[in-house]
Amino acid sequence: MDAEASAPLRRREMAAAASGASRCRLSKMGSGRRPPPARVRVAVRLRPFVEGAAGASEPPCVRGLDSCSLEVANWRNYQETLKYQFDAFYGERSSQQDIYAGSVQPILRHLLEGQNASVLAYGPTGAGKTHTMLGSPEQPGVIPRALMDLLQLTREEGAEGRPWDLSVTMSYLEIYQEKVLDLLDPASGDLVIREDYRGNILIPGLTQKPITSFADFERHFLPASGNRTVGATRLNQRSSRSHAVLLVKVDQRERLAPFRQREGKLYLIDLAGSEDNRRTGNQGLRLKESGAINTSLFVLGKVVDALNKGLPRVPYRDSKLTRLLQDSLGGSAHSILIANIAPERRFYLDTVSALNFAARSKEVINRPFTNESLQPHALAPVKLSQKELLGPSEAKKARSSEEEEIESPEPTAAPAPASQKLSPLQKLSNMDPAMLERLLNLDQLLGSQGCQGTSLLSTPRRERMELIKTVEQKDLEIERLKMKQKELEAKMMSQEALHPKGKENCTLTMLRPLPGRTVTVAKPLKKAVVMPLQLLQEQAASPNATIHILKKGRKRKLEAPASQPDQGEDCWDLELSPELLALGRQKILDLLNKGSARDLRGLQRIGQKKAQLIVGWRELHGPFSQVEDLERVEGMSAKQVETFLKANLLSLLAGQRCAPR
Ligand code: ADP
Ligand code: MG
Repeated sequence: MDAEASAPLRRREMAAAASGASRCRLSKMGSGRRPPPARVRVAVRLRPFVEGAAGASEPPCVRGLDSCSLEVANWRNYQETLKYQFDAFYGERSSQQDIYAGSVQPILRHLLEGQNASVLAYGPTGAGKTHTMLGSPEQPGVIPRALMDLLQLTREEGAEGRPWDLSVTMSYLEIYQEKVLDLLDPASGDLVIREDYRGNILIPGLTQKPITSFADFERHFLPASGNRTVGATRLNQRSSRSHAVLLVKVDQRERLAPFRQREGKLYLIDLAGSEDNRRTGNQGLRLKESGAINTSLFVLGKVVDALNKGLPRVPYRDSKLTRLLQDSLGGSAHSILIANIAPERRFYLDTVSALNFAARSKEVINRPFTNESLQPHALAPVKLSQKELLGPSEAKKARSSEEEEIESPEPTAAPAPASQKLSPLQKLSNMDPAMLERLLNLDQLLGSQGCQGTSLLSTPRRERMELIKTVEQKDLEIERLKMKQKELEAKMMSQEALHPKGKENCTLTMLRPLPGRTVTVAKPLKKAVVMPLQLLQEQAASPNATIHILKKGRKRKLEAPASQPDQGEDCWDLELSPELLALGRQKILDLLNKGSARDLRGLQRIGQKKAQLIVGWRELHGPFSQVEDLERVEGMSAKQVETFLKANLLSLLAGQRCAPR
């Protein structure tokens, strides 16, 4: 490119570079503000000169300033030196462990909180993205280190006795020419990316392999990487033309109630080279590939810009890569972008453009949240089975055996042998028609109320069976309680019939009315005493019986038989056992000594005036030592006190027996 032709291009690049640099300054100035909760973290890694590569003898065009900043010098015009500041800067001497421990390891713990995380390696081809992410057996990169730590973490957290059961699965895909290809199942073709109702990004049909050890991971990952490498050889550097995405899911299931489940996703992404393909003179297939790459990375740039400017529409759907990253950029993930740059002069423009992109990404704010719900089998938590961990393709193959499992009368997921005995999971057709009808009614009712997702008969079979089982158990429990209640009632009745005397001691039937006074036992009887009919009849037949009982609040008089002459009211008197008498007296005395004027008004034969006199007397002379002391209260004769005593003994003791408050 001659100097004249390159001048406008250079001016454009420098303007773009300056805008990126000024952004950095702005963000630095604004650093006094409280940092947003989950900004996309950006780290820059400068690779060393590669031995034997072109330009290795020239001085570098990038220089680190400190652990966060660097400068890029334009060797043709040193006035154009640009300074950048990021969350971290790793110089050419930095090790794989430095990058991992400094920028990646801290975000892994969020996966165990049910949150998402992603690590993206960005930069021009040859700047060290694959080295950073994958590394070599001697210098393992982010991917093997993260997997090693994550598996260790999940082993510890999911150990027996800990509250959560943890499992890890992996998927590995590449996006090549806007096609999503499953590297664990290369025959599966282009896969679609979808979003669920909660905004989670899914790829139906993508293989998920359960992994419990690093050996497991290698067993799946190495041949899958081989799939990519074969392509690379055939398609001429395809690996640098495609985006490689390793997805690791951590699934957590609570072992005890309330049986929550959490899912944390970790994306580890080795992006395709970000070099400007317009300058590379690509033709044919390479040009076509470049177009596709440019689409993805160009849209990635637009997404970052839209998020920065707070635009209402973020063009995630305009490319497969951004659609996949929807919950990692401006979404629910803790994200780290590692911008890889090279020191050689020939990389100058690509370095500046990569740094500008990184500077813009630094402004993106994510809002990570915990992805938590209740386990579908919350009624009977099951250990995550191998089958549930399989991808849909495997799941399809396994489906027939699963059907068998569900049909079986003793499913492996049943929680306890006792409940199995109570309710073997039955087919709808074998079910008790009454139960089926109730379920149908309930189903209809829920449907009519617009309840979604709760409909019993439209829920998956396994869950429906669990619900049916619970309903049955509740029914049995109710039956059992009813039987017990009946037994107790029968026992009480037989005891009362056998020992009627024990009852008489405490009932009002023994209490004779005072002369000239009709016994009113309406209040206490309203509440309690229920006597067997037989007993009432016995009492009615007894010589002295004139018994007043209340039935539904109405007085009814059982007359003594005509053969027995009525003894008249005068012969009635209060007959009480000495214990009851003492108890009644004590109650009255307590009221007299402790009760307010209002409480005293509640006693028989005590009106407003007498109540006040009693309280006044008490304040002057201290407490009453016996009920008869009332005679000393002004206006109360001995006769009045006696009448008061008898009237209140009767009603207080009736309250004690019949209506305890
Ligand atoms: P990219 O994936 O960005 O195209 P690579 O990771 O393939 O780049 O790196 C290109 C070359 O540079 C490889 O030979 C790689 O081993 C080497 N390299 C990259 N980064 C480093 C580094 N930090 N230290 C040593 N060699 C590196
Ligand atoms: Mg690479």
